[in-house]
Amino acid sequence: MISCRTLARLLLGYVEQELPGEYRELVEQHLASCAQCVALADSYTVVLQLVRQLQPVPVPPELLEALRIAAGLDLPFAVLHPPWPEPC
Ligand SMILES: [Zn+2]
Repeated sequence: MISCRTLARLLLGYVEQELPGEYRELVEQHLASCAQCVALADSYTVVLQLVRQLQPVPVPPELLEALRIAAGLDLPFAVLHPPWPEPC
């Protein structure tokens, strides 16, 4: 059986249902016998549900400009001035 530490590394992929089958099985075997990790998995699930309810917020142009400068990139105008609405 995998350790709690190993489970913690696999847990995000598990709750997002992106874990390959063999790893998913290892996680499920562990969760069947470890209440502490079941509680951790439940908390991950709740956090992900809450995050998915958030509305996307456009990146402020000033931040994009700062990132462009920091990265030394020369981004096109459309990226620096996106067509999406300003945040409320
Ligand atoms: Zn555990």
